[in-house]
Amino acid sequence: MNELLEKFSQEAEKCILCGACQSVCPVYAEVLDESKVARGRMALLKAVLADNLEVTNRLERILSTCIGCKACSAQCPAGSQADFANLAAKLRISRSKGLPYYQKLLSRHVFSRPKLRSASGRILDILGRRVYEPLSHHRTLQFALPYIRGGKGRMIPRRTIPPFHKRTPFPPVKGGVKGKVVFFYGCAVDTLYPHWGEEALAFLHRSGIDVEVPEGQSCCGAPLLFMGDLKGAEKMAEQNLSALTGTDAETIITLCATCGSTLKGLYPRLFPGEASETLADRIMDFQEYWMHKGLPAPTAKEAQKQAPLRVTYHDPCHLSRGMGVREAPRKILQNLPGIEYVEMEDADRCCGGGGLFSLSHYDLSLKIGQHKVDRIAESGADIVATACPSCRIQLEDLLHRADLDTRVVHVCELLSGNGNRNT
Ligand code: SF4
Ligand code: SF4
Repeated sequence: MNELLEKFSQEAEKCILCGACQSVCPVYAEVLDESKVARGRMALLKAVLADNLEVTNRLERILSTCIGCKACSAQCPAGSQADFANLAAKLRISRSKGLPYYQKLLSRHVFSRPKLRSASGRILDILGRRVYEPLSHHRTLQFALPYIRGGKGRMIPRRTIPPFHKRTPFPPVKGGVKGKVVFFYGCAVDTLYPHWGEEALAFLHRSGIDVEVPEGQSCCGAPLLFMGDLKGAEKMAEQNLSALTGTDAETIITLCATCGSTLKGLYPRLFPGEASETLADRIMDFQEYWMHKGLPAPTAKEAQKQAPLRVTYHDPCHLSRGMGVREAPRKILQNLPGIEYVEMEDADRCCGGGGLFSLSHYDLSLKIGQHKVDRIAESGADIVATACPSCRIQLEDLLHRADLDTRVVHVCELLSGNGNRNT
């Protein structure tokens, strides 16, 4: 933790108070509060470090309003990574103060256990639509339930069965093997979108890529880190490092922008060592891998199932700024027969999802998301493609609220010719 604190203070020290982050921070654009933009956060954090400011509940609330979109870090002329500094400060504070009971429950007993996670997905699925949605219309109850405050009429994602980790593995490719990958599915693809995994892996398999799905994988740990639970995340990182490093595959692919950027960007910084650094070097997003290997697009016959479609793309923050992947998804979409690709304005602006952020700060997340809804509507697209479970959940909710029938899919669904499927 001391080393982490050291890194965090270096980030805060780099800030030259120029204010360039104000123009890109989606949270600041809504709240216009200097304490909630990178420059203000850094000033507060420096004061805490110098023992000039006490850690109060108010400070914790301020830290919790950073969505982690990395827009400030990408814009900062001094190279300061405010999102990382903010995260490190949250980890440090929650280590000294402890986690609220429900965060501890989620973190230690749900995200870390595939069976329980799967069971809780089922509970969420049933309770969500039969209990929560009706309850959410009652003002008092709506504010009493942890994590779903103010969520009136919110769309709850459905759990899909069986989860990815229980699905049939792919046999080895027969002849003409072009490569081998390991697939890291992560908890959201495992529980909510297992068909993404199947479709992406089936596409790779058809293209001559051997796919391996090692057992013993856990959640990447990002939800825990964003809650402030470093210890829980470390346990998951250990499980993942052990599951993913015992294979000879050249590349480990992900379909979730947050998983990818956590394994690639956060593991080496939070859990330094040869294992995490070697792992980070092997992580690639599925779309990036498609471009890297020069894999084919579907044939016109395969694509007929989904033509004609007007498609736009939303950049997940953790993919574009976290992993530097911007070109590959656009290339895929532009190469798909029967698809007219349209670039929306501000495609890389945060949608307001931010994983657990939309649960803890739903009103703010909706305000941030409204900009995205407007840009999607202007594009006239039938489909908005993205590459992150959290963005998909958020975009579906936003579009549903706006009464737009634009559908949201992962790029891999279009690549595998299943963009018209209603999931
Ligand atoms: S852009 Fe960077 S240097 Fe400028 S105020 Fe923001 S964090 Fe500080
Ligand atoms: S990471 Fe995003 S939300 Fe957080 S301070 Fe930077 S720009 Fe604002």
